[in-house]
Amino acid sequence: MSATRRERLRAAAARLNAAGVEAGEDDAQRLAMKAWGLTRAALIAEPDAAAPATSAFEDLVRRRVNREPLSHILGTQPFWTLELEVGPDVLTPRADTETIVEEALAGVTDRGAPLRILDIATGSGAIVLALLDSLPNAVGVATELSAPALARAQRNARRCGLADRALFVRGFWARALSGRFDRVVSNPPYIASAIIDTLEPEVRAYEPRLALDGGADGLAAYRELFAASIALLAPGGRAVFEIGHDQGEAALALARQAGAPHARLARDLAGRDRAVVFEAGESGQ
Ligand code: GLN
Repeated sequence: MSATRRERLRAAAARLNAAGVEAGEDDAQRLAMKAWGLTRAALIAEPDAAAPATSAFEDLVRRRVNREPLSHILGTQPFWTLELEVGPDVLTPRADTETIVEEALAGVTDRGAPLRILDIATGSGAIVLALLDSLPNAVGVATELSAPALARAQRNARRCGLADRALFVRGFWARALSGRFDRVVSNPPYIASAIIDTLEPEVRAYEPRLALDGGADGLAAYRELFAASIALLAPGGRAVFEIGHDQGEAALALARQAGAPHARLARDLAGRDRAVVFEAGESGQ
């Protein structure tokens, strides 16, 4: 089990690539950093140093060869300004979801304003916590159906120092809620049920179905949530919902039917449709 860091890394990357892992080299580095307790700089700076004579690194590599998500093995995932605890009970936040945070912040003229935020089906807490971190006087309510996910979101709020401004409520969508919010945000499940088993093993075998399954056409959540959010928006408020990149037109049509005639789409960094956005009171009521 000795050999140099470089040799052990190279062997691991080869195993990962052979297992179909997309970024074998990078994942090998991250797993080595964890197993050997090194920063990336230290790992890169001394490739010819002897690696520890234990199998801790290979044990982590074996999990990744089995296509367990890197985020589950590391236990955390960076998102926006935060580092969140993740695991099999929540969807690992994706970079795409930062589009939701950006769209929710756009149009906030005073970041110090005491805004009220609602995150429906929060999972890890990623969206609401990112917004609270960027809006120092905002308060957030977040709903979640899964008890373990809710507990994890609460741990993330504490971990990020945001627990005093975040209230987590166990419940289905926003059914238990009344009141008015300046921002309603959500990354609901939106994968069509039949598609889930065709996704990468990291997703289909390790991420919670509850966070993925959007019913027969993937759009079930929006049929309830668009109308619900219109009722929960304060004057001047804005709703931002994540969608799948191929759901833009269908989701937009649902938002318009629900009473948001001026709903629009927002794109992610790759230029794909990623969110439906609408403002309060657009129906003219
Ligand atoms: N973006 C996720 C994926 O592609 C799905 C997220 C969701 O259903 N909300 O795996």
